[in-house]
Amino acid sequence: MSEFDFDLFVIGGGSGGVRAARIAAGHGAKVAIAEEYRFGGTCVIRGCVPKKLLVYASRFRDDFEDAAGFGWSVSPPSFDWPTLIANKDAENARLEGLYRSGLERAGVTIMQARAELADAHTLTVQPGDRKVTARTVLVATGGHPVVPDVPGAGHAITSNEAFHLEALPKSILIVGGGYIAVEFACIFNGLGVDTTLLYRGPKILRGFDEELRDHLTEELFKRRIDVVCNAEIATIDKGWTHLNVTLKDGSTVETGKVMYATGRVPNTKGLGLETAGVKLGDKGEIVVDAHSRSSAESIYAVGDVTNRVNLTPVAIREGHAFADTVFGNKPTAVDHELVPTAVFSTPEIGTVGLPETLARERYPILDVYKARFKPLKHTLSERDERMFMKLLVDGDTDRVVGCHILGADAAEIVQMAAIAMRLGAKKADFDATMALHPSASEELVTMREKWVPPVKAAPAKAKRKKSPDAAS
Ligand code: FAD
Ligand code: NDP
Repeated sequence: MSEFDFDLFVIGGGSGGVRAARIAAGHGAKVAIAEEYRFGGTCVIRGCVPKKLLVYASRFRDDFEDAAGFGWSVSPPSFDWPTLIANKDAENARLEGLYRSGLERAGVTIMQARAELADAHTLTVQPGDRKVTARTVLVATGGHPVVPDVPGAGHAITSNEAFHLEALPKSILIVGGGYIAVEFACIFNGLGVDTTLLYRGPKILRGFDEELRDHLTEELFKRRIDVVCNAEIATIDKGWTHLNVTLKDGSTVETGKVMYATGRVPNTKGLGLETAGVKLGDKGEIVVDAHSRSSAESIYAVGDVTNRVNLTPVAIREGHAFADTVFGNKPTAVDHELVPTAVFSTPEIGTVGLPETLARERYPILDVYKARFKPLKHTLSERDERMFMKLLVDGDTDRVVGCHILGADAAEIVQMAAIAMRLGAKKADFDATMALHPSASEELVTMREKWVPPVKAAPAKAKRKKSPDAAS
């Protein structure tokens, strides 16, 4: 008989926690999992999945418009937000059910409850203050949106509420320049909402390749998204029918809604982590080693709560690796390099590897290949949109170290490029790969000319007067 109720207690039924619980149970461990809200976590309930469904909805507008160039006439389309939200909610519920049944089939004890640590092996489960013990605890509590302390910020929404608006506003002001701000700006814009994106810095999507940032900004302007940089909100006041926003420069904006997408912080408050001896980092994240073990021997953490790479596939991989390491006798460390990622803007960004500025720091000789072109579809649709692709190659080894795409299906293309890059593909391998024609992605295997920075024009010399006898 074990001295503990469970071999493993998982706090949080999101992407990382559910995967860890199922795999650990499969290795023979006695596992319990507690979820205080809905199984599936952020990704399934208020993140990736419902977001992508809204992205699809927002892109039909382009399809209706583009169809005309191909001979179709479509009577003015209309859109019904409540239908979209109801269908999205039904899909969320279906997925939540799948997450639960997967846990049940694996023999995991499911607790619809909040759990907190009383000490390194004891949990308090609410409601009821029930005490449960476990040999190992996995904290997979994710994160939540953070809103700056601005007077009137309580009138604003975050992505959590955006998924449940009763009606679409006529206009929206979205604050932030990261993934969520950019994605939701495109969603609302596509659904016909007059959209402003307000960012505190000089250029949106800090950390991404500079040219992706520039070209996307250009495309957002073409779509009439008002991208306002170097701007911050001072106050938000509620009027009768709209919100009055005053910016720090004193200018004012009237808008139907304000949405803050100004980052997320790890869910570590009130969990009893300090009492259990778990060290936290500057942003409140749980500090872990390569095997996701915290400073307390019996406590591990995976996913957004560790603030490593805050993406669903990473949380899942970390949860799986944890279970294999601790219960499967197979120590596994997750490789956080070469993680492909997408921003589901319209047009979308797909990227893997280093942005050019970082690649230049790491590789003394960097070869750059790039292409910017009008996709074939838009020759007939006449949409003014350009696709952009860029490959960064280490000149010493010929290895491809960065692949950056802006345009339709960028996420799908980059997922495949990531496999090649993981295998150490060289530019010569890309070149030797037969093109698939006609496709946008064939550009990746047909780019032959290294990009050469334009030579800076020499300072203009004072024009010499031609002497009358100079040869003409
Ligand atoms: P979560 O999925 O957040 O799960 C944590 C769970 O723990 C939650 O269900 C929470 O209710 C529960 N919990 C917290 N505290 C307790 C407690 N004390 N007791 C019991 N339960 C508790 N990533 C991508 O890869 N692609 C995308 O397209 C993408 N889009 C996103 C869009 C949005 C709007 C957002 C917000 C995020 C998006 N992400 C995306 C990020 C992705 O959702 C997260 O990286 C991922 O969900 C992290 O998984 P996790 O298991 O660490 O945490
Ligand atoms: P991000 O960290 O991506 O972006 C936050 C943005 O808010 C940045 O532009 C930041 O500016 C700005 N900001 C931060 N604090 C303030 C402030 N006080 N005032 C004004 N602006 C501020 O966070 P998100 O919330 O967009 O997304 C959270 C995470 O979720 C992402 O980092 C990503 O890991 C994940 N995610 C992934 C998606 C995907 O895979 N497609 C989609 C959505 C989310 P600055 O740059 O100057 O710091």
